[in-house]
Amino acid sequence: MKTQQFVVIGLGRFGSSLALELIDLGYEVLGIDKNEEVVSNMSEYLTHAVVADATDEEVLKSLGIRNFDCGIVAIGDDIQMSILAAILLKDLGVRTVVAKAISILHGRALGKLGVDRVIFPERDMGIRVAHQLVTPNLLDYIELSKEYSIVEMTVPESLNGKTLSEVNTRAKFGCSIVALHREGKIIVAPTAMDQLHSGDIMVIIGSNANIDQFESEAV
Ligand code: ADP
Repeated sequence: MKTQQFVVIGLGRFGSSLALELIDLGYEVLGIDKNEEVVSNMSEYLTHAVVADATDEEVLKSLGIRNFDCGIVAIGDDIQMSILAAILLKDLGVRTVVAKAISILHGRALGKLGVDRVIFPERDMGIRVAHQLVTPNLLDYIELSKEYSIVEMTVPESLNGKTLSEVNTRAKFGCSIVALHREGKIIVAPTAMDQLHSGDIMVIIGSNANIDQFESEAV
């Protein structure tokens, strides 16, 4: 079942951008922040926005928090508040709780409380930007483990017109092209006869070492 209703606690830079994106994607979002000004700035964009202290259990209960499919604790700087809000979301029965951590220790504490997913936006963005800076064709990547990733890479001029069987990433480099984006469309599981066009975006899965090798030899 698709997650439908989100509650975002803390509408700072991270929380507000997450909440607005969820709204853009068509989901319902309740935003909670203790700062009145922050809430009034966001209220016209979100499904509901409420001024409240997210560490007040009675307030959360009265907002019907337990009915939400997913709760995101986007309070960063105030670790104590972040931890208290995460405990309450878990205890009140929010199905999936996601929390932002600002340090490894903060993340470990959230993990021990049973938070389903801990995110480190600054750390992860730093890593992502570093990869993009050293690999110019790399658009984005998802780390599957320390060793394996899925990356999005622009097809370089050198591969223009080549079929996947000619490029043969699996045999030559040990990584696979699992999808292609072309002119706004996605070709999932392209066949050996599909051609690459320069400017297409390839979605590649493999070990980091193999993907790096393909990237450096393909360009
Ligand atoms: P960012 O770095 O993403 O801007 P911040 O930690 O600076 O994140 O902002 C977090 C937001 O969370 C702020 O708008 C703050 O008012 C709000 N906040 C902090 N504690 C609480 C709380 N107990 N209840 C509700 N909102 C809170």
